[in-house]
Amino acid sequence: MAKTAVFLDRDGVLNVEKGYIHHVEDLVLIPGIAQSVRRLNDRGFFCCMVSNQAGPARGYYPLSHVEALHQRLVDLLAQEAGAKLDALYYCPYLSPPAGGKNPEFTRWSTWRKPNTGMLVAAAWEHDLDIKHSFMVGDKATDVDLARNCGAKGILVQTGYGKEVLEGSYQHHAKPDYIAEDLNHAVDWILEH
Ligand SMILES: [Mg+2]
Repeated sequence: MAKTAVFLDRDGVLNVEKGYIHHVEDLVLIPGIAQSVRRLNDRGFFCCMVSNQAGPARGYYPLSHVEALHQRLVDLLAQEAGAKLDALYYCPYLSPPAGGKNPEFTRWSTWRKPNTGMLVAAAWEHDLDIKHSFMVGDKATDVDLARNCGAKGILVQTGYGKEVLEGSYQHHAKPDYIAEDLNHAVDWILEH
């Protein structure tokens, strides 16, 4: 039977939003978030990170740096609460008008949120039931992604979430639920 997933944005949901993270040690978990992921693990949800990471396309750092950031993320989750991500997807591509510079990663990509490519790939590779899954993010584009693929969209107020709600960042979004942070999002997910 296809598994139910919780798709998790990275910056502003799992780790503190700091813009582009140039030093690996600057990746810091939002307090309590490892325990939130652990709660999802314990209830059998497939936990899948989906993240736009345009640093390589902008020429800020190589792909290996993004991988190092994700290794730290995985390590911190394990250390703090024995929590784990079942899969990690990210989109290093950016179109030319959006600011892509490095030719290796400068292109239009169906993986870039709010396009659905990462979720579709995850669903194929891990047998996931997207319609009964959840997408947790701090941007309007995360909520749009949920709508675009039929998952339930949850906007957290960490990261850019408050600005999105106030209308001062990106555009108006219509989440299925607005949560204070990932832990409150998990409360709602467990009720559904
Ligand atoms: Mg984010």
